[in-house]
Order: sequence, then C-alpha cells, then structure tokens
Amino acid sequence: MGFVDLHTHSNKSDGGDSPAALVALAARLSLDALALTDHDTVAGLDEAFTAGLELGVEVIRGCELAVRSEYGEVHLLGLWLPERPKRLMAALETVRQKRHARNQAILGRLKNLGVDLDYEELRDFAGGPSVGRPHLANFLLRKGYVSSYKDAFIRYLGAGAPAYVPRSVLNPEEGMELFTAEGASVVLAHPMLIKAPLPWLDVLAARLKGLGLCAVEAYHSEHGPEETKTAEDLAARHGLLLSGGSDYHGAGKPAIKLGQGHGFLRVPSSILDKLKADRRAKNLPV
Ligand code: AMP
Ligand code: ZN
Ligand code: FE
Ligand code: FE
Repeated sequence: MGFVDLHTHSNKSDGGDSPAALVALAARLSLDALALTDHDTVAGLDEAFTAGLELGVEVIRGCELAVRSEYGEVHLLGLWLPERPKRLMAALETVRQKRHARNQAILGRLKNLGVDLDYEELRDFAGGPSVGRPHLANFLLRKGYVSSYKDAFIRYLGAGAPAYVPRSVLNPEEGMELFTAEGASVVLAHPMLIKAPLPWLDVLAARLKGLGLCAVEAYHSEHGPEETKTAEDLAARHGLLLSGGSDYHGAGKPAIKLGQGHGFLRVPSSILDKLKADRRAKNLPV
C-alpha cells in the first residue's frame, strides 16, 4: 500500500526546504503523492510540479489560506489549483500586502521595546514572498533577542504579548469562493486545532459544506488518536470526504517528519483516490 502527504510547506512560506528539495524528500520516502500547500502563496508550485515529473512523485498544486471565525483562524487547503489561478493570485497578493503592513507594525512595537530590527534584512532572511510571525521568531532568535523560538512568542509575538498585532484575514465566504472558483477541492485543515466546542465545529462544517467544502483533514501531525476519530466522525456527519497531511515545515518545525508527522501519521493513497474520484464525478481535472 502506498502513502501520500497532502499538507506541506516550503521556503516560499514558512517551511525550510525548497519546493524541489521537498519533492526529492518525498521521492526518497517513496511517497506516491505530495500536495504543496504554502501559506498565502502559489510561488512554489511550478518548481514542485517540475521536480515531481522528474522524480516520479505526483505533485498536487495547493495553498493554505486562513479565514476568520469566533474561535480564531480557521485554515483551508485548496487542492488541485490550476497552473495559473489568476484571481486567487491577485487576492493572495492583497493578503501578503496586509501581512507586510502588519509586519511593519510589529517591528514598530518591537522598536518601542528596544528591539531594533531591519525589515529588509528580515525579508531576506525569510526568503519567500509570504512573511509571518514564524520568520520573525526565528529572526529574533538569530539576532539573540530571545532564547528560543517559543520564547519569541511568549515575550513578543504571541497573542497578548507586547509586540502582538492581529492579522486581518478573509471571511469564510471569501476564502471558500477564491478556491472553488479556481476549481480546487477545499479541505478544512486540522479542525481539532481550532479551540472550539464540537457543536460549533458542526455548525462550521455545515456552513463550509454549503460553500463547497469537500473534505476534512482528519489525519494531521497534531491530531492524537481521539482527535482523529472526532474529526472522522465530524466528516461523516456532514457527508464530507477525508484528507490527511503532516503539515511538514522542514527546519521550520523540525519535530515533524514528512509523511509521518511525529512518527505515527500515515495517510494511505486510498484517501487521495477518493478525493480524485469525487473530482472526476464533478468533471474537475485531477
Ligand atoms: P502568522 O500567520 O504570521 O500570524 O503566524 C502564525 C503561525 O505562528 C502559526 O501557524 C504558528 O506556527 C506560529 N505561532 C503562533 N502562535 C504561536 C505560539 N504561541 N507559539 C509558537 N508558535 C506560534
Ligand atoms: Zn506554516
Ligand atoms: Fe494551518
Ligand atoms: Fe499548514
């Protein structure tokens, strides 16, 4: 039986590996397929796709987008994006510009706290087009202002910490529409990381399903056995398919292994087959 990983990040957002290196790793691990789902950007997809053709790994073009909710951010994965998702790319550009303004606001707050960072240097350090707090945390660590990545969130960047600036994100209708209009299959990412009561997750699933949601990511590195079961049941109650991925970030989150999460995660290829069958039934390309 083969295995897949349908949720990964490259250095085009906050992952550590280049898109090609990520696909090469998937090939070494004998994964059948890999979805690259960088936050707020599709910049790595062509590189990953080309590497996949060379190395015999099926690469699914994806993206991860955050939307607003009463319980904080809800993450959506759009899978099977087309080669040039023009409208999505324009919308992502706006999302990244808002990140840019927010990052500068964070640097302003840090400066008032005696931490003087150069924004251009931070952007070079991040390397890719989508710069967020994980880069800021590693940059603070590199500059010796904090003792660890975690410490950066506790002292400066986390919600409630003195340099915290909230991020404006899309509402669920906007996020869902951006993906569905491109013909993507939309997956509710790591639902059990949303700190909400189960009845509320049911309302969310029903609402998103009404907007075209296809699947629930039941299999994820940070879902324990009980959470996986809860997510599977959630999907079943709403007639949604299942998806799974490690949320691999390379050196960005070194504890998480591609295709295996913390060691116990396995996503069988049959999960991918069912997602593809659903697309075929809807006359969408796979
Ligand atoms: P951003 O999208 O720029 O707001 O960054 C969000 C990311 O920062 C999350 O996906 C986490 O990887 C990381 N993060 C947020 N809060 C914390 C925290 N308290 N400790 C460690 N990492 C965090
Ligand atoms: Zn990330
Ligand atoms: Fe996420
Ligand atoms: Fe992710």
